[in-house]
Parts: sequence; C-alpha cells; structure tokens
Amino acid sequence: MPMRVPKGDQRLLRRHNRGLVLNLLRERGPLSRTELSQRTGLAPSVLTRLIRDLVAEGVVVESGKAESNGGRRPTLLELNPDYAHVIGLKVERARLLGARVDLGGRIRARAAVDLPEHPRPQRFLELAGQLAAELLRGKTLGVGIGVSGFVDAVRGVDLYSPILDWREVPISEPLARVTGLPVYLENDVNALTLAERWYGAGRAFRNFVCVTVGEGIGAGVVIGGELYRGAFGGAGEVGHMTIDPDGPRCRCGERGCLEVFASDRFLLRRAGELGYPDIGALAAAARDGDPAAQAAFQDMGRALGIGVKNLVNLLNPEAVVLGGERMEHQDLFLPAFEEEVRRHSFPKEAEILAIERAQLGEDGFLVGAAALVIREFFRLPTERARV
Ligand SMILES: [Zn+2]
Repeated sequence: MPMRVPKGDQRLLRRHNRGLVLNLLRERGPLSRTELSQRTGLAPSVLTRLIRDLVAEGVVVESGKAESNGGRRPTLLELNPDYAHVIGLKVERARLLGARVDLGGRIRARAAVDLPEHPRPQRFLELAGQLAAELLRGKTLGVGIGVSGFVDAVRGVDLYSPILDWREVPISEPLARVTGLPVYLENDVNALTLAERWYGAGRAFRNFVCVTVGEGIGAGVVIGGELYRGAFGGAGEVGHMTIDPDGPRCRCGERGCLEVFASDRFLLRRAGELGYPDIGALAAAARDGDPAAQAAFQDMGRALGIGVKNLVNLLNPEAVVLGGERMEHQDLFLPAFEEEVRRHSFPKEAEILAIERAQLGEDGFLVGAAALVIREFFRLPTERARV
C-alpha cells in the first residue's frame, strides 16, 4: 500500500516545490523543463503539473526555444518580472526616495518627496503613505524601507537613526495600516547589500562584505548567500571600529573610530586645512597634481583598508564590494586602499580576495529596499521566518 501523505503536508510540499522552481528561475532562468527537473530532483510528472499551474497563474512565462543538438528544441521557462511589482523606499536626511521595482529587480517608476528636518514619525508616515500611493499600480506585493541606523527588522521598529533623531519608532505596522500592504524595514546598507547580492556585484559570491563610504562608513555581511544581521541587527557597524585608541574624538563619543579617518568628515577637514571649500574641490586639486590633496585621499584609502582588512581577517570573505557616494572619487583612494587590504590580510586570503565595485550605484538602496519584499515572495515555506 503506498504511503499516504496527510493533506496539510501535501499542501506544504506543493508550496515547497513551487518555491524551489521559482527560486531556480530567479537565479538561473531561463531554463528548460529538463534542466528544472535535474536541478530540483522533482519527477517530470510533478514538474509538468507545477509548471502548468505557474504559467496559468502568470508568474512563469515561456520565453522561446533552447539550442538543441538535434531533435526537438526544448521550450525555455522564465520568471515573469511583471507578475507583480514591489515598492522600495529609501529614507535620506532631507528626502524620501521611492521606486516601483519589478520581480527582476528593475526600477520601473520613481518618485520623491522632501522631508522636514527631524520629521515627526506621524508626519513621516503620512508622506511615506502618499509616496507609496503615487507608485502603486497593478498587483503590488508590499513595501520595503531602508533607513540608516539601528533597525529591529522583525518588529519593524527603527531603534535609533541619528539623521532623523528617532529612537524606538514603529514603522512597519503603522505604514502597513496606511498602505494596506505588508511593510518590511531594514538598515539601508543591509538592503543595499541584498540588492548587490541578487542583482549586482555579489551575484557571483556566497560570502562577501559590502562596504559603503561617504558621510558614514557602513557594511553589510553576506554569509552562505544570506544577509547576516547579528543577534540584534547591528552586524556590520564598521564605522565605529577602533583604528587608533588615542586618535581624535568621533561623533559617537569614542576615540579614533574608522569614520574619523576615512569618512567624508576626514576629507572635509583636510580640504579645510588646505584651503579648499569642499571634497569636490579637494578631488579636483588632487587630479591636478596637488600632492597634499592627493595625500589626503591616500590617507583616507589606507585607513579604510585597515578597517576592511580587519573584516577580511574576521570573516574570510570571497570578495569585498565597495559602494557609497564617495566612490565617485575612487581613482584617488582605491590604490592605497587595495594595497593596505592585501598587505595586511593573511597571504593566501589576500591573493584570492576579489575587490569589486558595487554595480547598482545609488539605485542599489531603492532596489535593496524592494528586494526585502521580493525575498519574502521567494522564501520557501520550510525556511525559518524572516529575521
Ligand atoms: Zn565612532
């Protein structure tokens, strides 16, 4: 007598198989039915039924024929990026940026709204609701938000964001009430890291760190293909790792943090000392051959290299992906950065470590916020809940 599978388990199994197929198509599509069967281990009859349902639902589409070495050319299947869209929001100091993003990670529409300085949470929620409504069109799976600072992603609470002057501000639940959609909150650099993992420089790596350089210095950590958030979501706060315990005071109150030596504040101070009004002017002077201006960027690159070397020795990643707005001057600090990272890391690691530039630029923050929602769509029912 064949083994009977209880009804509830059958449903779970179907959802699990469905998730397997969708994830494969997301990562490696287009694929033929034969390839899907080989990679999932699902019996062709099970797969045929599953694909028929997914095509009828509109989430999978046939996308032409594969090459063949004789015989019938197999039909290729791929994910339909327009099956549904998601909304990604990025909170900046004075603006809220938004985008409608398809399931393939492409931005399909944009919108933005100015934020008052240190906005009251109630006002912020109104503006975020309006922006989401402006971007809403067709089937929409949810809203993802990236914000700098400490975030409790499980409860959807902004624990501490210095740029907004917020502490313990609930975001996900109230915004879900306003929009009628599920809302996912995450630290902005973590969101960016997710975007680079799925759609950018991190696609080729299962273990990497994504470091952003600009006003602050942040990092997202990917281990085994998944974002690593730490016990309370604070993993990757590299900006305040100590580089020199006797160094100048940092804005956080400690001394000699990485941000003191490698963030925009460092470059601004050096620009001021040399008589340049801003970082752009300092960079122009460096490119014009001013050795003092060149030294400022080299010092910054070296300090960043010391910080990243510590990460590399701790985590042994395959790659370091560098992003953030200061990358516009990468020609001036990357050589010193790379030399420092490779000089200090253990020899074998340093040899094979890839140093890559983030591919999505500033859009990565929006795509990453959207990816928080897309990740839920693709999550297998048997995987642990979102953390
Ligand atoms: Zn600090």
